Amino acid sequence: MSTTKAYAAPAVNIPLEPFSLERRAPGAHDVQIEILFCGVCHSDLHQIRDEWGGSIFPMVPGHEIVGRITAVGDYVSKFKVGDLAGVGCMVDSCRECTSCQEGLEQYCETTGFVGTYNSREIKTGQPTYGGYAQSIVVDEKYTLHVSEKLDLARVAPLLCAGITTYSPLRQWKVGPGHRVAVMGLGGLGHMAVKFAVALGAEVTVLSTSAGKEADAKALGAHKFVVTKDEEQLNSVNNYFDFIINTISAQIDLGSYVNLLRLDGTMILLGVPSEAPQLHAFNLIAKRRRVAGSLIGGIAETQEMLDFCAEHNIMSDIEVIDIQHINEAFERMLKGDVKYRFVIDVASLN
Ligand code: NAP
Ligand code: ZN
Ligand code: ZN
Repeated sequence: MSTTKAYAAPAVNIPLEPFSLERRAPGAHDVQIEILFCGVCHSDLHQIRDEWGGSIFPMVPGHEIVGRITAVGDYVSKFKVGDLAGVGCMVDSCRECTSCQEGLEQYCETTGFVGTYNSREIKTGQPTYGGYAQSIVVDEKYTLHVSEKLDLARVAPLLCAGITTYSPLRQWKVGPGHRVAVMGLGGLGHMAVKFAVALGAEVTVLSTSAGKEADAKALGAHKFVVTKDEEQLNSVNNYFDFIINTISAQIDLGSYVNLLRLDGTMILLGVPSEAPQLHAFNLIAKRRRVAGSLIGGIAETQEMLDFCAEHNIMSDIEVIDIQHINEAFERMLKGDVKYRFVIDVASLN
């Protein structure tokens, strides 16, 4: 066991504060990681506010983790001390069901995946604690290799925002000739733009924030639509093959689904606390589809990290000290993030 400094939400809707926790000694298949940077995901905010129900407190959030390996168990073969490593949204799953066998651990059919935080270990039932901490111990099977070539702080958000947007773009084989809309230019949204552009699609950002247009274009988007402007919104009716929906709040889905052309698909990534409203006509009028996608499997996360190293793709970030985390959450709620907060974990020392 080792004691680790962290920041935790002590209870629902109480600001995060300094916290101390015990990490297990690395087991035979475990790696111990000194955490260097951890991204701040809107899911962290949803969960400390218990917007999805069932939150476990005290909660140490954080599932966009990068750091360096400081110890390895006897049977670890993929990593050695000194290697860079990443940990995303999950740290375990049953490993035996069809989904786990197929590398789709996020859809594990028996135990469900074990979240990096706000979840319980399969064997012990103990709560898991995330990356707003100095160290973490994870089975090597759920640990990713990180390239030495990229800026580490900018790599951290790839572990959730990156894989969550990469996975559906690959699943639906998005590429040249496709018109793709990205709804919401936040942490997930700005990564979706980068990936969809890299894959050769025509990309439009649908945003409530007129002030984000220049950034959207700099990220590679071809068009920008201010969704509060009805004329602008109507100009892209029946236009898109795919809409990647990253909105974290309750919205009227119908007016956005109408932007899909015949056989177009909206992929839901955002998880607002309230269920979306949609009229059947919005779908049947153009044989449209609404789908969803959850993070990505371990093998695909590694593929995404390798793709980013090859194409020099990283997140656009604002680095913060952990002492400013509560203020960062307030800003995130207002959509005032360009485009991901990343905690410099050295600030915990
Ligand atoms: P974020 O950085 O806060 O970005 C969300 C964006 O949504 C905002 O920047 C804003 O973009 C837009 N938005 C916010 N409130 C809105 C409103 N009331 N109406 C319309 N647009 C609004 O959040 P994130 O970290 O990217 O996460 C987005 C969502 O994805 C969250 O719900 C999160 O829990 C979920 N998520 C899902 C998965 C998964 O596996 N499916 C994984 C990670 C996160 P504009 O200013 O451009 O309008
Ligand atoms: Zn996340
Ligand atoms: Zn499983």
